[in-house]
Amino acid sequence: MELLDESIVPEHARELKADAREFATEHIEPVAKEYFESGAYPHDVLEAGYEAGLVAQDIPEEYGGRGLDLAQLLALSEELYRADAGIALTLQLASFGCEITYEYGTDEQCEEYVRPVAAGDQLSGLAVSEPETGSDLAGMSTRAERDGDEYVLNGEKYWIGNGVEADWVTVYARTGDDESNRYGNHSLFIVPTDTPGYEAEHIPEKIAMCASKQAHITFDNCRVPAENLIGTEGAGFWMVADFFNHGRVIVAAHSLGIAAAAIETTWEFTSDREGFGRTIDQFQAVQHGLADMLIAFERARALTWRACRKVANEDHPGYWAALAKTDATEAATAITQQGMQFHGGRSVLADRKIAKLFRDARIPVIYEGANEIQRNLIYRQRP
Ligand SMILES: Cc1cc2nc3c(=O)[nH]c(=O)nc-3n(C[C@H](O)[C@H](O)[C@H](O)COP(=O)(O)OP(=O)(O)OC[C@H]3O[C@@H](n4cnc5c(N)ncnc54)[C@H](O)[C@@H]3O)c2cc1C
Repeated sequence: MELLDESIVPEHARELKADAREFATEHIEPVAKEYFESGAYPHDVLEAGYEAGLVAQDIPEEYGGRGLDLAQLLALSEELYRADAGIALTLQLASFGCEITYEYGTDEQCEEYVRPVAAGDQLSGLAVSEPETGSDLAGMSTRAERDGDEYVLNGEKYWIGNGVEADWVTVYARTGDDESNRYGNHSLFIVPTDTPGYEAEHIPEKIAMCASKQAHITFDNCRVPAENLIGTEGAGFWMVADFFNHGRVIVAAHSLGIAAAAIETTWEFTSDREGFGRTIDQFQAVQHGLADMLIAFERARALTWRACRKVANEDHPGYWAALAKTDATEAATAITQQGMQFHGGRSVLADRKIAKLFRDARIPVIYEGANEIQRNLIYRQRP
């Protein structure tokens, strides 16, 4: 059974999808369990991903990437997350934040910061969430004060992918306090991580996606040149919101990959496990459960690929991205939950694949905006 069937994938993305499957089979699947258990940063897989041309390649060709489009990134993500969500997240986060710079930044910023990431010489990150809130984008408090030809950053960020490992991060910070224009008070800055006043430490170990690393960052009078501002001052909220429209389609793909793996592993288990003199997949109740997994998966995948076209065409992107993110991420939690039930007592053995997938599925319902926030967007941005 091939769940990540290519017929729904546009033709121009199929070769990349095949390359991603081959890479995942060779470089991710064999080490997935080991990295999940150790929680180590998968440097070797990242390096192999760069060599295979599968990391940071959304970066435009003019800055050294392959200029992969949203459909290609979606196809790539489904395959990588099917093999292991933690390693896949690390590969994807290698260039996190670059999108905003090549979309809104200057040519000089792209040459200095984006090109080295495309080449695999540097890692980036995107620092938006804070210890006090991740959901209230307009309420974030890290501050950037203009002082001559510099900005001075003070505050904290939490959950930041590559906050420790990155060479630079794109930081979302408050530059205004106009209560009558709540969405015009934030800006984005390129902050090299060796800037004095930048401190980062890994957050405590997670229960899922263990091969990816997130950090708690503090900015203590951290000074960056004024030319590190991306785009215009006060436009940060809208730049991040636009970025999330693309990112949320990709997060839907994270969950489709996890869900596909959960269905495969549950199918295998139920056709092998015996009870009452037959394999348990002979019971109609189990067959119905397996059928429900397929219904949830196919529905979410169809919606995600539809959303991909809508977002790529700028056709109510906020609405479609939120629909896909919500449905696919919740499909994965339901599918992994059912998979756990069919594994019986073995579901709670820590080394079982279904137990790992069950935990991994808990993350995409939260990141890039918890699903409650997505439902707000669906309601407010309906066409
Ligand atoms: C593994 C991982 C990686 C991450 N990587 C990054 C990263 O690289 N960069 C980055 O900036 N962030 C990152 N995040 C942060 C992530 O985006 C936030 O966790 C997420 O936005 C939720 O914020 P919060 O955890 O502060 O939850 P809170 O904002 O405290 O919300 C908690 C809960 O309250 C409810 N809630 C909150 N507001 C509302 C509302 N308006 N209506 C209804 N219900 C509401 C929801 O149930 C929500 O889940 C990452 C998170 C994880 C888990």
